[in-house]
Amino acid sequence: MTAFTSEQVLSVTHWTDTLFSFTATRSPSLRFDSGQFVMMGLEIEGRPLTRAYSVVSAAYDDYLEFLSIKVPDGALTSKLQHIKEGDRILVGRKPTGTLILPNLKPGRNLYLLGTGTGLAPFMSIIRDPEAYERFDKVILMHGCRLVSELAYGDRIMRELPQDEYIGEAIRSKLIYFPTVTREPFKNRGRVTELLKSPEFYAEINLPVISSEHDRVMICGSPSMLSELKTFCIDQGFKEGNSGEPGDFVIEKAFVEK
Ligand SMILES: Cc1cc2nc3c(=O)[nH]c(=O)nc-3n(C[C@H](O)[C@H](O)[C@H](O)COP(=O)(O)OP(=O)(O)OC[C@H]3O[C@@H](n4cnc5c(N)ncnc54)[C@H](O)[C@@H]3O)c2cc1C
Repeated sequence: MTAFTSEQVLSVTHWTDTLFSFTATRSPSLRFDSGQFVMMGLEIEGRPLTRAYSVVSAAYDDYLEFLSIKVPDGALTSKLQHIKEGDRILVGRKPTGTLILPNLKPGRNLYLLGTGTGLAPFMSIIRDPEAYERFDKVILMHGCRLVSELAYGDRIMRELPQDEYIGEAIRSKLIYFPTVTREPFKNRGRVTELLKSPEFYAEINLPVISSEHDRVMICGSPSMLSELKTFCIDQGFKEGNSGEPGDFVIEKAFVEK
């Protein structure tokens, strides 16, 4: 058995000149937990060229969805950004990752903190009924430089609340807080700064985050992760992993080379 299945691209959406998403067929043998990532890519000259990708689609969807950066000279994404409906992609058979609900202890509110393509794993988690069974509120913060980079904003605000399966939980428990740093928008500022600001909690109408009650998942650039990890540890949060559930878990949205 090869390490990858070949899947067919079903649709492609270009959000900006640096960001796109696409859906593809899903092998019935691929099982994953919401929040996990797989190796995904293209066959180039008979060889697989793959990178780690968080799965955007829900664990129960019969298709796969990915959100991708376009790195101009990136080995994979300089090619991947040109895929179209009907093309083939490779998807690894072994999903993995730390951003899964069992890695967190029970708690009151769940904070999902993502910047850029770090939103991807949380798109899957916000459609997981377990998130709403385990937590009173799920707060999804997505930080970007520009409003146009707030991918999936419309889907989160307009489509998901009407979803037959998960809509009711989303309407009563999900708080979506998109924020940008480089242009005017209803919410401004970096995720790291907002978490320290009383105005933010007043805006979402929740008590200030605390390690005693709340749980956190973080996915972003290496520098965002290191800043937020320091913030969490300073607040008394303990990091969790598959061996030992904790108060917060982190995953890199990409590796700096
Ligand atoms: C656990 C994990 C999950 C990931 N999930 C995703 C995902 O869901 N979507 C996604 O687009 N990428 C994701 N990545 C990054 C991805 O693996 C590749 O780096 C990306 O597809 C670019 O590949 P490349 O070969 O074109 O360029 P690479 O040679 O891999 O990257 C070149 C440079 O581009 C920058 N870069 C790469 N990826 C990103 C990014 N996502 N955002 C901003 N800058 C970036 C970095 O500076 C990097 O050094 C993930 C990485 C990890 C480790």
